[in-house]
Amino acid sequence: MNMDFLPMTQNDLEDRGWSELDFVMVTGDAYVDHPSFGAAIITRILERYGYKVGIIAQPDWKDIESFKALGKPKIAFLVNSGNIDSMVNHYTSFKKRRKEDVYSPGGEPDKRPDRAVIVYSNKIREAYKDTVIIVGGIEASLRRLGHYDYWDNKVRRSILLDSSADLLVYGMGEKAILEIAEALSNGIPVEELTYIRGTVYKTKDKERAFDFLELPDFEQITSDKKEYAKSFKIQFENTDAITGKTLVERYGTVYVVQTQPMEPLNQIEMDDIYDMEYMRNYHPSYKNKGGIPAFDEIQFSITNSRGCFGGCSFCALTFHQGRVIQARSKASIMKEGQAFVGSPSFKGYIHDVGGPTANFRKRACIKQEKYGVCKDKQCLFPEKCNQLIV
Ligand code: SF4
Repeated sequence: MNMDFLPMTQNDLEDRGWSELDFVMVTGDAYVDHPSFGAAIITRILERYGYKVGIIAQPDWKDIESFKALGKPKIAFLVNSGNIDSMVNHYTSFKKRRKEDVYSPGGEPDKRPDRAVIVYSNKIREAYKDTVIIVGGIEASLRRLGHYDYWDNKVRRSILLDSSADLLVYGMGEKAILEIAEALSNGIPVEELTYIRGTVYKTKDKERAFDFLELPDFEQITSDKKEYAKSFKIQFENTDAITGKTLVERYGTVYVVQTQPMEPLNQIEMDDIYDMEYMRNYHPSYKNKGGIPAFDEIQFSITNSRGCFGGCSFCALTFHQGRVIQARSKASIMKEGQAFVGSPSFKGYIHDVGGPTANFRKRACIKQEKYGVCKDKQCLFPEKCNQLIV
């Protein structure tokens, strides 16, 4: 691997002798090539499989030329809002505008639009009418079906419809993006990608979905809270890769179809992702702009696991990473920690070794490996399940 930051400009492309990219990632965060950033993982994994990938970080969404900076990619644009939802990034829970954005150079606010996935995707569509657009990351993932939006205080449509994207990847997208890349590079039209787990597509023909559960229509969930609750319950019960079914939600004559959840990564796959080569820094173009504040916190932090079986009522993590714990090996974690020693800014302590919530490292029970997590029972509430491995 040519170890450098991925191209961000035409000059970078020329330096590599490339005239065209396979994928262009458009992201709402500054470009930080570190595995704490989803955009870094997805771009590096595509690069590893031989695809040419470039990054447009925090484009000026009022200027269409910003989206043309790397030309039209051969395969697709990939769009995300950054590491967090753009509305959470911009507003406090009291709906006050935040003064700082730690994912932007110097912490400067307003470097991305509200509802970044929708804005970026529509701008790309304006720039290149017939290009393929795939949205992913936390903003797209948690808004994949009809959902309550706190900021608007109303139920909004699937972001797939509002963004004009062709396909949505939900959850952690490494496996899905590789399957998509392989299919598209082999000439399969994006409309035919109705079979890849961990994705959402739109269709006028419901019969394209197979063995599915029908959610209440969008119209019903916007007018009846009980229907909304029913829809949410079905979605919650279908977040497991073994038991989860394809879900279909109707919007008039269009159907939004969520395929079954992607299988969790095993330990070898987890190690593989975090052992990949990253620059482990922000792009040098930010150096004179005050760096990226978020990087200070993650620079010497290590991701240990994904998923959570805690089931806290306020948390949406299981809708993104699922209830099954996926952990790295101790050897992989140690290797990452040992590499810190070579960094001049390392002062001898690792900020954090952890997962998204509690420090779970093992699956909750043996049963879920074969039969999936329980649909009608929580692992820790109202009391600890007797199958729980402690
Ligand atoms: S058997 Fe118990 S520990 Fe296992 S998934 Fe079900 S509730 Fe969780």
